[in-house]
Amino acid sequence: MRSKVVVGNWKLNGSLAGNEALLKALLREIPKDGSAACAVCVPYPYLAQARELLRGSPVGWGSQDCSRYDQGAYTGEVSGKMIAELGSKYAIVGHSERRTLFGDTDAIVVEKFAAAKRAGLTPVFCVGETLQEREQGTTEAVLARQMDALLEKSGAAGLDGAIVAYEPVWAIGTGKTATSQQAEDAHAFIRRRIAAKEANVAARLPILYGGSCKAANAADLFAMPDVDGSLVGGASLVAEEFVAIWRAAGAASKGR
Ligand code: PEP
Repeated sequence: MRSKVVVGNWKLNGSLAGNEALLKALLREIPKDGSAACAVCVPYPYLAQARELLRGSPVGWGSQDCSRYDQGAYTGEVSGKMIAELGSKYAIVGHSERRTLFGDTDAIVVEKFAAAKRAGLTPVFCVGETLQEREQGTTEAVLARQMDALLEKSGAAGLDGAIVAYEPVWAIGTGKTATSQQAEDAHAFIRRRIAAKEANVAARLPILYGGSCKAANAADLFAMPDVDGSLVGGASLVAEEFVAIWRAAGAASKGR
């Protein structure tokens, strides 16, 4: 049985004082024996603060990206080893904002995934189609291309211990959430694609939904058999909302 995971993506938001208030609010509400895992992916400069405040707590932390390089003359890059050295568990790779705004191609994302794994991190590998691709009926073709880039490079076994996040680009930060059925169809497609190569890895793999997930729609999404939690952007900045999403994940875990 897969347990549920809720990961916050703070994007380019935060301040020392604001983060402290937010993290302390999460710590007040999230118990050690919760039924779903919880983590926040923070901007790099705040990883040390996350470690300071969250160490020994049930809330994990991580980064929103990871260099494909381990070390060397790569000005501005941050390696998986550095991220891991700050106690991080997770590194998001291939977020659609990185893909569309910063030139992360399928090939680069796959290299970042491998680098995160080399560093002992759990990569959160993001895939998802644009609105135009959905309207053209090419959602599955896009997901297949993004997943196959990874499967060809790292093999299905490389996904063991990782997380996949299905994030339809048209739902990210727009307030438009995919319906539970749209999410389930995409998640089931991704799982089948992996299962064709390694059934056990596919069965164990957490596949999270991302795209305007909030307290009001989380329970419906988490009730779907292949939706194992959420990657949460905007709502992860509001403690009450994020905790409510995490609670919905815990409740769905118990119901499985
Ligand atoms: C995200 O950034 O991964 C995300 C899903 O954002 P939002 O929840 O704001 O749509």
